[in-house]
Amino acid sequence: MNDSLLTSITARLSWVNSQIKALRPAATLIAVSKQQPVIALEEALAAGQRVFGENRVQEAKAKWPLLKAQFQGVELHLIGPLQTNKLHDALKLFDVIETLDRPKLAQALHSAREKYGHCPSCYVQVNSGEEPQKAGVSPSEADDFIGYCKEELALPVTGVMCIPPVEEDPLPHFRLLRTLAERHHLPCCSMGMSHDYACALAVGATHIRVGQAIFGARH
Ligand SMILES: *Cc1c(COP(=O)(O)O)cnc(C)c1O
Repeated sequence: MNDSLLTSITARLSWVNSQIKALRPAATLIAVSKQQPVIALEEALAAGQRVFGENRVQEAKAKWPLLKAQFQGVELHLIGPLQTNKLHDALKLFDVIETLDRPKLAQALHSAREKYGHCPSCYVQVNSGEEPQKAGVSPSEADDFIGYCKEELALPVTGVMCIPPVEEDPLPHFRLLRTLAERHHLPCCSMGMSHDYACALAVGATHIRVGQAIFGARH
């Protein structure tokens, strides 16, 4: 069996879930619903999916408050860059911020927490391929940055995430991220997308972020 003949969101979700069950049953599937219409999200929700990823605060704000009210137990992950001027909206919407990538954002989260008494769980984004156009701390800065966020700012850092360079074998990137999570005793390791989630699961992903393999092409 392969997944290319599956046509419904429900069928593709159950295929990805069967892969998780075979490779790493404890892992969590984050259904990446960016640029997908509400009707697609409703189908995934009706099929039982509860953890979703969005990459834009404004888009998530337009789609999710109503769905969150309609379906119990939704967990929303921010997987795209967070500008500090959108922080207030992001804190209201997201349960996990996977893109903690710079001191300025860490400091803004710290201040927001002092002010509102609340901060979502954060994953530190690691630019494992050191690509200039990509967000995230470089692997050589990651230890210091994680330490700064956890110890000095007391932020609830619970994981790490990476997006390997598209043209490269993702395996060394996944290994690097996994090692980093273990070194800092972080329970969550978010890695693997539609084309490489099986590899990520094999290396120890606790969260995979899968969009097109569930929802089809983005609109
Ligand atoms: C879009 C996106 C994904 C999902 O990508 P697919 O190829 O659709 O599975 C995963 N992670 C991040 C950070 C993304 O922006």
